[in-house]
Amino acid sequence: MKHTKEEFEHIVNGDNILNRRDFMKTGAKTAVIAAAMTQFGFIEVFAQEPNTKEESADVIYLNGKVYTSNKNQKWAEAFALKGDKFVKVGTNKEVAALRGKETIVVDLKKHLVMPGLIDAHMHPDMAAENYFNVQIDELSTSYEEFREIVLKDIKENPEKEWVFGGNLDYLWDDGSDIKMFGKPTHKSIIDDIVSDKPAYFWEISGHAALVNTKALEVCGITKDTPDPVGGHYVKDENGELTGLLRELAATVVWEKFLDTHPPVEYIGDKHMKPVFSYLNSLGLTSVSDVWARNYFIESYNYLDRKDELSLRIAVYINDEVDFVSEERKKAARDAINNIDKLTSKQVSILGVKYILDGGAAGQTAVMLEPYEGSKDYKGPWRVSPEEYKEKLFKYDALGLSVNAHCAGDAATRLVLDSVEELRKKPGNNAKKLRHCVAHTAIVNKADRKRFAELDVICDFSPVFWYQMAAIDIVAEDIGKKRVGDMFPIKEIMDSGAHCGIGTDWFVTPADPWIAIETVVTRRAPGLKEGPTLHAEEYAISLDDAIHLYTMGSAYTQHRENEIGSIEEGKFADFIVVDQNIFEVPIYDVHKTKVLSTVLGGKDVYISEMVQNIIDAGELSGDYEKHPQYSS
Ligand SMILES: [Zn+2]
Repeated sequence: MKHTKEEFEHIVNGDNILNRRDFMKTGAKTAVIAAAMTQFGFIEVFAQEPNTKEESADVIYLNGKVYTSNKNQKWAEAFALKGDKFVKVGTNKEVAALRGKETIVVDLKKHLVMPGLIDAHMHPDMAAENYFNVQIDELSTSYEEFREIVLKDIKENPEKEWVFGGNLDYLWDDGSDIKMFGKPTHKSIIDDIVSDKPAYFWEISGHAALVNTKALEVCGITKDTPDPVGGHYVKDENGELTGLLRELAATVVWEKFLDTHPPVEYIGDKHMKPVFSYLNSLGLTSVSDVWARNYFIESYNYLDRKDELSLRIAVYINDEVDFVSEERKKAARDAINNIDKLTSKQVSILGVKYILDGGAAGQTAVMLEPYEGSKDYKGPWRVSPEEYKEKLFKYDALGLSVNAHCAGDAATRLVLDSVEELRKKPGNNAKKLRHCVAHTAIVNKADRKRFAELDVICDFSPVFWYQMAAIDIVAEDIGKKRVGDMFPIKEIMDSGAHCGIGTDWFVTPADPWIAIETVVTRRAPGLKEGPTLHAEEYAISLDDAIHLYTMGSAYTQHRENEIGSIEEGKFADFIVVDQNIFEVPIYDVHKTKVLSTVLGGKDVYISEMVQNIIDAGELSGDYEKHPQYSS
């Protein structure tokens, strides 16, 4: 049964939205199809002269509050898709004109629609590694719970040669207690749980690990083993190994674990698919994997080739310097020399990730001024500045962007100085390529405008930009003054630099709604008042926050012409959410729930709320019968 012409005109004029009952009157079969595809509502619109198949859209979405992230047309009511692209964005009337006989019409019921969100820096591969091994929360897991989780993993997976996981809270060279456990930073606390299999647990920073005695044994590491370059086997006052491994010393043991990784297809199907679905549920349609191993990239390609990759991925490959064994160094080199083979429809290779230092909390960020309480200690380079510069020049010549992890202000300055020097070399690619600073946590005032001047891009990780335990630890290390200067996003953005947001998940939560709120408030999520991390000076607007998560991050992925906004000709990547974040108080933004995530016109996520409506046999849902589903 079709709606009358008058009803249709009400829809396109937006003055009287049809309720669920109205579209329930449509033919059940069509409604089921529509519900499966769209979930928000199904309306059979009336049109006098349906367009021809060539001219008509496949799906049109009407009655939305569509925030486009396109600065020439910030808001729209409606949009139309054909294939995997947006073909029209505009008013209900303009878009409804593309309706043909077979066009599916969706009533957005005034829900907020936004471009699919883009995370410019994360580690989905490491997330998978933790989720499918021993996954613990550094803020809430007690030692007893840890024991239970480890024993469960061993019992359920007898075939696994290693016990592996994370993330542990901060680890201490002097053997001090790991806060989450109230137990010393020492291998004995793992030996007490598992001693017959090697066991390895990352620190939350990703720059250290605690292992058991067996792990040291299978790697042949004794107290007499010399430290690897760029790493340290921590010892107690008697010169005995404590099981704490810093930087590349952690890598030595990690690589031994990696030798036992499952086949690429298994990783793709069993590990990455659920991880990507989780990211879709948060509203993400594109992410950058900033430090990917070759076999993980192959697992993304594998899913992509069979059309089962539910987001777009831009990848920075790890450099051979991050490995210790010749075999793994070679794998990294091979990947860098064969990027075409690792590129597929939704997977692009941006360049190479380079890790310059560690983190401020472990005093491994490289700083311009000494750490608190020290006369001259400014933190250790993970690789020498000379080596970084050499690599930057080399990769630039190969046409590969370099993304450098920089925690300290000296590390950031090294990147800026090196790119400046590179620019002076004849025939360089620096202008074309987008060399990048990752995290951009501590930047000296004198360097803040240089990103724009030198066209160096950067990502920020604002999930934890508020007064919290980790910030207190950083304050002890670098002093309150420098903490107050951290994360100077506004100054860098305002100077015209290209920036994106990268949560650094798995290190911090991937939830973009927390990041969007805290980058604006610089307060803990949900806090209306109370201390901020220099919000007066550094906070940005909600518009800017969304720009960072859409067009800003699209630029960091070299895809600003394809994604990042709801714009004609771009891929139809968008999300529908349960609240209008422009209308609710800013401290409620973290509560936002995604109702649906669409990638290239295909649903990749349907919220439980919407799914329940469909499952309840209500087709596309009658909110009046199911008030709990109303939004
Ligand atoms: Zn990272």
